[in-house]
Amino acid sequence: MKRRNLDIFKRGHLSVFYCTYCSKKTLELFRPPNKKRKSGHLKKIYCPHCKIQRNCVEINGNGQYSYQDFLNEYNDGVFNEEGERRDDKWLTHGMLPM
Ligand SMILES: [Zn+2]
Repeated sequence: MKRRNLDIFKRGHLSVFYCTYCSKKTLELFRPPNKKRKSGHLKKIYCPHCKIQRNCVEINGNGQYSYQDFLNEYNDGVFNEEGERRDDKWLTHGMLPM
């Protein structure tokens, strides 16, 4: 059931990465509890769709940031060519740079 999947995310073990350029999923990995990152944090990962290393957004249960938040940011053009978040957009989304 849905509840069970959410529990897995809440423990923060599963991290899913999405490319800031093509918005597709690039990687899923389990992080040990002591290696947890905040959901929404950016990491350079090879994107199999773009065939190049790009900044990807990590989404896990550690924080409020969800896949829908990523889609909103992506559609709003928050990510620049480097896959970084534009500072002005950060402010409009009420989030602080990490
Ligand atoms: Zn990509």
